[in-house]
Amino acid sequence: MSISDTGSLIMNIIIHRGINQIGGCITEIATDNTKIIIDLGSNLPGCQGEEFTKQDIEHITAGADAVYYTHFHGDHVGLSGYVHDDVEQYIGKGAREVNICKYSVLAKHDSKYERDLSVAQNMKTYEAAQKYDVGGKGEIFITPFFVDHSAFDSYMFLIEADNKRILHTGDFRSHGYLSKGLEKVLDLKAKNIDLLITEGTMLGRLDEKVVQESMIKAGAKALLKEDQRPHFLFALCSSTDMDRLASFHAACKETRAKFLCDSYQKSVLDIFTKYAAPYSNLFNFNDETTKVLVENCDFERDLRPNGFIMPVRASSQLDFVKKMLHYFPDAELVYSMWKGYYEGTEEQKSQNVIDFVNLFHGQFHYLHTSGHADVETLEKVCRITNPSMGVIPIHRDKNTRFEELSIAKTVNVITKSVTIDDMNIIVK
Ligand SMILES: [Zn+2]
Ligand SMILES: [Zn+2]
Repeated sequence: MSISDTGSLIMNIIIHRGINQIGGCITEIATDNTKIIIDLGSNLPGCQGEEFTKQDIEHITAGADAVYYTHFHGDHVGLSGYVHDDVEQYIGKGAREVNICKYSVLAKHDSKYERDLSVAQNMKTYEAAQKYDVGGKGEIFITPFFVDHSAFDSYMFLIEADNKRILHTGDFRSHGYLSKGLEKVLDLKAKNIDLLITEGTMLGRLDEKVVQESMIKAGAKALLKEDQRPHFLFALCSSTDMDRLASFHAACKETRAKFLCDSYQKSVLDIFTKYAAPYSNLFNFNDETTKVLVENCDFERDLRPNGFIMPVRASSQLDFVKKMLHYFPDAELVYSMWKGYYEGTEEQKSQNVIDFVNLFHGQFHYLHTSGHADVETLEKVCRITNPSMGVIPIHRDKNTRFEELSIAKTVNVITKSVTIDDMNIIVK
């Protein structure tokens, strides 16, 4: 064990990836005898950086006591399949189930996902607000706290080691249905932080309007009721964004329209209902008067009279929607994801999304709010946690500058390798 001049342990914080790109985040926190990795994300499509190989990930995770995942999005969990079986991997309970569900479908179509599926099945789970001794060595402790994000069952982590307190936020926001607890948790559990590692996605999207998730519900309801005639709406959105699906489901429920889904979407909704319905009826998707399965519904009887919203996936449902347009030629598209996929730079654009929009002749209703914290929230988190050593902004575009926020006048912004007290911060 290395002991510094002051008698403390030497601690290394390594930002392996994420300081200048959104997604693909990997953070390592290590003392001499204990090592924990937070997230092993794969690069998002269009990312210019080179992807890590299996060897790279084996090297990063060699000797690690545990890998903890903040949530199941691919840009946080996508390289988990490369980790050697000896290293324990942890995720939230509900997130584990969604991850298995996702990889089961992928593995059915492509055998390269079989390893990811078996790793997802073998992941261990953690509970919110429980403190865990990483590797059982009494050096590094981790406590997950629930956060609201566009992925169900997401967490931030408080890491305590050698009297130092590090808060890693993961991806989060303060404008979702389940965001109310954020300030309270920070106030109670994360004041007097030494080092804050936060996402900064919205630093590069300052012109994007961030509204409360409840406004999406109101917008969907207005669309369904427009002109007092039935509307047939395909909503291009994430199949695992519980808040968004709850917004559309509630809009249907309140207008007597149907919430139409396929069997994959239903299996994800069943997981949401199991874990989240006990907290709010908004997440109870087990509602057969509103929700109908496309495989066994009668279009004329079930859909024609009051209309529907059907959440659809850009990745795999284009042909299905093409067929549906024969039955509902006046169906409309609701665009409920980041606009950059359609009208961003060449790297940001997604051909799948463009194809979908083209199917509707470029016409759509835009109903979306970000899954990420707006700049005011980032500043608020900084203010409450008051990180004495500084803040490391990750999960952000290359040219964004956390340094330009007003909070940066009082908080040290760390974007390069530096040693502070007995902590070596290595930014790769
Ligand atoms: Zn992310
Ligand atoms: Zn995410």
